[in-house]
Amino acid sequence: MFGGDEVQITPGMQRYIDRNNAYLAERDRYIREVVKKWKFDTIAVHGLYSVQDAIEDYQGAIIEPVFMSSSQAYRDSDEMAAALAYLIPTWCYSRIANPSTYYYEWTLALLESYGFDGETSCCSTSSGMAAIMTAVQPFLVHKRHHVHEPRNFVATAQCYGGTFQQFKVRLMEERDIECRWVTDPTNLDEWASKIDDNTRFLYGELPSNPQLGFFDVAAVADLAHSHNLPLICDSTVATPALLRPICHGADIVVQSATKSMTSSGFGICGALIARKNLVCCIDNDDLKKDFALYVKYLPNRDYGPNLHPMQAIMTLNDLRTLRSKMDLMSRNTLKVAEFLEQHPAVERVDYLGLPNHPLHELASKYLWLVDAEQDELYGRPVNRYGHLMSFCVQGGPLAARSLFDGLERIWRATDLGRIKSVATIPAISTHLQQGEAGRELAHIPPNLVRLCVGGEHPDDIIADLDQALRKVATKTVVGVAGAR
Ligand SMILES: *Cc1c(COP(=O)(O)O)cnc(C)c1O
Repeated sequence: MFGGDEVQITPGMQRYIDRNNAYLAERDRYIREVVKKWKFDTIAVHGLYSVQDAIEDYQGAIIEPVFMSSSQAYRDSDEMAAALAYLIPTWCYSRIANPSTYYYEWTLALLESYGFDGETSCCSTSSGMAAIMTAVQPFLVHKRHHVHEPRNFVATAQCYGGTFQQFKVRLMEERDIECRWVTDPTNLDEWASKIDDNTRFLYGELPSNPQLGFFDVAAVADLAHSHNLPLICDSTVATPALLRPICHGADIVVQSATKSMTSSGFGICGALIARKNLVCCIDNDDLKKDFALYVKYLPNRDYGPNLHPMQAIMTLNDLRTLRSKMDLMSRNTLKVAEFLEQHPAVERVDYLGLPNHPLHELASKYLWLVDAEQDELYGRPVNRYGHLMSFCVQGGPLAARSLFDGLERIWRATDLGRIKSVATIPAISTHLQQGEAGRELAHIPPNLVRLCVGGEHPDDIIADLDQALRKVATKTVVGVAGAR
């Protein structure tokens, strides 16, 4: 059993255990023989919620029900005892589990492992930041009780501003856990040089927000495993429609499902997906065997960063069309990036889909629209690079602000992943707190605008940028009036 003391199993408890084992065996068969054979879109649409589930348990509801209930009632003390000892599947209390989050978790576990022939599981969290905390904390425990040991981990410096703060302030400054930043994650030697006997895991964000850093996942995973360490990847910007790091050797994926997965923008939501039997140097069999279930049943039960069932179903609903949305928004973004690239008021454009981007070739090795070869539109593998891009405006930070203020259709917000185009200036928003030195480390200049292109027609987004850039030109006299 999971954690805690051995429990006395009564004959009544045993009956519940047997019945549930039969249920679990049938579920495994259904996953193996039915769901795992589906295409990505079918999994995204149905997940594990079947007609049979609906008819037998949920009055035929074709959409997964929202279980707005704090807790679950049990038939008798035997069932309660078996459930609370985690001897049977249970949801018991919504801080631990809930039927709505269950369907959300299974869809994500299956999407992240699409094309992977091992098993994965998922733990839902209240946000992307909670997913990151949930993923890293179990590796930072003291291996021996009451003995203070130096601990470190190695992470890409180009990462989301919140991640930078969690690692630098909460872990390094407040807990004395050293984060060793990798400044060029394409350099395997730099990763290797930062690992020592006290390293607990490797962490990488790809593509990174906002600067689109990238690295060779398979090579970094091999490096991690050669030191008996897990690789944790933040794959928020790609989503499983474009990249599934677990298929390339990563052990754990964290997702800010808030972003492209909940493209409607209905709320904050996160998830952690892990392969079973992961590589790590922590002596804890439950943790190694099924990391996501372990964190869900034990640490997160005790810390409580759980997801609300209402949000789980709203995100699940957005997820059903993830592949086609990522395709559409990626294509729109490429058009916008091509427009900006030739614009004289733009200093540089960073988009992995542009052939002259220094990481284009590496990214093209990994970023593929899932199932494009099965799509009648394409019938062959196609690269797609997501809908996050950034660009620097000629004329410095004031020119960047002037462009930003001139936008009429594109929203000004610290947000991304939306079906609506949204722009941000990271230096004054998402990456404000890490200060100038931290921004320099992460390559974030003050005139950088992050743009996430949505599902609008790209011509309308280009027109908005064009008129805003014209206003900058007349204001800052950089001599680009009439550009284009
Ligand atoms: C937004 C974001 C996060 C944090 O997610 P929240 O859901 O906002 O907590 C983590 N990583 C990346 C790459 C992000 O863009």
